[in-house]
Amino acid sequence: METTTIVAIATAQVEGAISILRLSGPDAIAIADSLFKGKQTLKNAMSHTISYGKIRDPTTQKQIDEVLISLFLAPRTYTRENVVEIHCHGGVEVTNEILLLTLQQGAQLAQPGEFTKRAFLNGRIDLTQAEAVADMITADNRQAIEMAVNTIDGKLSKKIIEFREDTVEILANIEVNIDYPEYDDVEFLTDTLLIPKITVLENKLTALLKTSRTGKVIKNGVKTAIIGKPNVGKSSLLNALLREQKAIVTEVPGTTRDIVEGHIRLEHLTLHIIDTAGIRETDDIVEKIGIEKTRTVIEEAELILLVLDASRILEQIDEQLLDLVAGKNTIIICNKVDLKQQLTLPASEYPLIEISAATESGLENLLEAILEKLDLNIHATNAVFLSNIRHINLLSQSKASLNAAKESAESGMPIDIITIDLQDCYSRLGEILGVEIQDDLLNTLFSRFCLGK
Ligand code: GDP
Repeated sequence: METTTIVAIATAQVEGAISILRLSGPDAIAIADSLFKGKQTLKNAMSHTISYGKIRDPTTQKQIDEVLISLFLAPRTYTRENVVEIHCHGGVEVTNEILLLTLQQGAQLAQPGEFTKRAFLNGRIDLTQAEAVADMITADNRQAIEMAVNTIDGKLSKKIIEFREDTVEILANIEVNIDYPEYDDVEFLTDTLLIPKITVLENKLTALLKTSRTGKVIKNGVKTAIIGKPNVGKSSLLNALLREQKAIVTEVPGTTRDIVEGHIRLEHLTLHIIDTAGIRETDDIVEKIGIEKTRTVIEEAELILLVLDASRILEQIDEQLLDLVAGKNTIIICNKVDLKQQLTLPASEYPLIEISAATESGLENLLEAILEKLDLNIHATNAVFLSNIRHINLLSQSKASLNAAKESAESGMPIDIITIDLQDCYSRLGEILGVEIQDDLLNTLFSRFCLGK
């Protein structure tokens, strides 16, 4: 347990209705009490209650603000330490003044993430949950929020714990074989126990690793290029998508500024539009900036929306663009279907979506096609997605160790070699959760296995 008491302003440092300062540590209550004047002292207040009163400078007795203070006694708190939250008026100056008073009374300014770090060190959450708290704060679409909630909830941890238990199970089989000579049939052990069990576990790891593509897309968004010859309706489509966004995030201030920056925050993912300026100013990246520029944009994009004009016949420039996007993640959009149709298209490998940017018909289909194209299985509720590079790397290493163990078993290597790889897999999985490895491997192994049988 930490002996210091930390403090930080928990809310954004801008003018607002209220600000919250958070204290955590053994002296949190004493520090708050030295500034607080209410009906009763916080020391005498019950846990998980709110007290009304005034904050005063203890040296001058000058009143600073009228506040509400929430009190949380250890261990039922975010950090498992005593936690006090001071809700003051939301002025930047007044908040800083109260912060200064807490520092004068012995609190230390918290490092970024230190409250969550304490929650982890004190065993309230594991490392994946702590990391997901940060993901929750930066989540910029509903799906990213859901992904963070699931991880905070422990759904990813549960899977990793299960993989670790499976590894222990396999190691336990080896232990029994070593300890009980009557089982000393190495061939039986490797062929009927080790290899099949390692294969099953390997498949589970592969399945979770596969979710990382979706996870990364949800978390980071998709670099998207809207291309097409002049006047096909690229700007109109962009605006229609932006209206789609606005319908979802109406209450979020700063939306307009974000639009200029080229981010479209859809319900399930964020599209980072590349070369928005090109589309907006001249709507002619093909002719004005040239085919080379278009090639670069296509190269950079993770998703390409190639817009064609359904009311006109296919022109050479359309064909050129169709050639350019060959092999890329592309959706072909036939715009202006509200007009008389002239366009006939050669057979193509890409999904073809008919829309009218003018009437906004077909947009839902386009959004579905985008999710499908990116292989985003967002409809799977409670699904766990990997999105954190650290988790992905460690899980890949775990899988490599498992694979090495399997290959050793298949080629008849000594059992010790197989054990080392399995222990390595177990350790890497533990690193994902942030747990100490060796001791608890032994404890778990022996507590799970009934050797007296
Ligand atoms: P861009 O050059 O590709 O960005 O094309 P714009 O979005 O500027 O659109 C070119 C013209 O086509 C404008 O006059 C739009 O109003 C019109 N337009 C765009 N989408 C549609 C559509 O779906 N239907 C109709 N009828 N007109 C459209």
